[in-house]
Amino acid sequence: MAFPIPSRQLFIDGEWREPIKRNRIPIINPATEETVGDIPAANAEDVEAAVSAARKALKRNKGRDWAATSGAHRARYLRAIAAKVSERKDHFVKLETMDSGKPLDEVALDIDDVSTCSEYFAGQAEALDDKQKYPVKLPMDRFKSHVLRQPIGVVGLISPWNYPLLMATWKIAPALAAGCTAVLKPSELASVTCLEFGEVCNEVGLPPGVLNILSGLGPDAGAPLVSHPDVDKIAFTGSSATGSKVMGSAAQLVKPVTLELGGKSPIIVFEDNDLDIAAEWAIFGCFWTNGQICSATSRLLVHESIAAEFVDRLVKWTEKIKISDPFEEGCRLGPVISKGQYDKIMKYISTAKSEGATISCGGSRPEHLKKGYYIEPTIVTDISTSMQIWREEVFGPVLCVKTFSSEDEAIELANDTEYGLAAAVFSKDLDRCERVTKALEVGAVWVNCSQPCFCHAPWGGVKRSGFGRELGEWGIENYLNIKQVTSDISDEPWGWYKSP
Ligand code: NAD
Repeated sequence: MAFPIPSRQLFIDGEWREPIKRNRIPIINPATEETVGDIPAANAEDVEAAVSAARKALKRNKGRDWAATSGAHRARYLRAIAAKVSERKDHFVKLETMDSGKPLDEVALDIDDVSTCSEYFAGQAEALDDKQKYPVKLPMDRFKSHVLRQPIGVVGLISPWNYPLLMATWKIAPALAAGCTAVLKPSELASVTCLEFGEVCNEVGLPPGVLNILSGLGPDAGAPLVSHPDVDKIAFTGSSATGSKVMGSAAQLVKPVTLELGGKSPIIVFEDNDLDIAAEWAIFGCFWTNGQICSATSRLLVHESIAAEFVDRLVKWTEKIKISDPFEEGCRLGPVISKGQYDKIMKYISTAKSEGATISCGGSRPEHLKKGYYIEPTIVTDISTSMQIWREEVFGPVLCVKTFSSEDEAIELANDTEYGLAAAVFSKDLDRCERVTKALEVGAVWVNCSQPCFCHAPWGGVKRSGFGRELGEWGIENYLNIKQVTSDISDEPWGWYKSP
């Protein structure tokens, strides 16, 4: 890994500013455990400056420069951002691969998705112009009503580390399309590409303050952003535990939130499948992104009649996964993000063993990798539903397997979780797939696949996986206020009171 890691400051009001307290957080390469640079650490005073810059940008020239301009005008910036990210793809891919430990091939797809998502929301910004003054039919001819869609205002965007720049873009692109101004707080574990994004904003001439980027710790930078009285909305992606704190804090000011939280998603495999096709999707659905996927289909429910054969195929497919430095050609599994995550995942595996589960493959550090936070892709069988590993989000490359004997039992087991982000169902019987899809208590269902995700379709969970929908035409609505405008179009007096 011989390329320089840029040393950035906080991005506030279109400028690079040193954090007021001058604190920095080390950047640790998860593949080598080496410190390769550092990022600025914002605190409440920096949040204050960023929110004030965002407010100024919202109101500048009475909103005519941004918030009250046309969607088509804002779309031009989003398209320019998409083009600039594509032009700089190599730079972003290298930095993200180093910072996150994700295989280079995956990161390349993520960075393409950043451009696609920005382009997509440019289209949504343009479409917004046609939805303005949307007429509302009233039961009295005397009145006419229409609806305006206006930006919510200054929004706080808090994102996780598993798709660093992409998860941030899922929020930045619709927020900017809607005409909001924003303060982004990426994860302290992977902020490098999000900070680089500031440079892109300046290069495309985004008005200063429209997007501000504050790296920093959750309690120091995230919490003051959530509780700031001049932030009109929070869009949060992260763990359910932090999401609950965010919601509690926002509730003090009756501030709207959208929460994209954790999951423990099921994948149901019926007996009528091509076993190799289903096995490849099953391991992809859990081991992609080094197993750190919110929607990982990490609870495999397989029909008892094919279970032994299917687990055997799963193990064979898993043993073929190339585990290596994420920059190595053909890498399909890199290290997890941090020492903290490594220890947590290993603890889940050892607890599973002590509770009586069987580790059918993996479960340890790969022998050929002495350094780095690597964990073998792990398949756990002989599971009971009370086991911690079956109930809690591991957020690592660990797939748990359980059998079922009937469609009803599969649905019951699938829904027996406090989470509700996603699910997958595999069967050649499409009627059965449809029945099961309807019965699953989740925000997304994959039929005969797992994980393909497109910014054109809605994304979000139910139950403790959160609420609100990002992406698609629903995504922009998160950042818009609906204003009713009703006019009396008659020249006649209203006539309710006696005239004086
Ligand atoms: P996390 O909750 O630890 O952190 C998420 C973000 O919140 C980070 O930027 C962090 O600094 C910030 N934060 C921490 N404490 C805060 C506080 N008190 N106030 C405000 N902000 C605070 O989550 P993580 O470890 O970064 O990410 C992993 C989690 O994210 C997993 O649970 C995963 O399922 C979830 N996730 C969900 C989705 C989804 O779309 N539903 C997508 C990706 C990740």
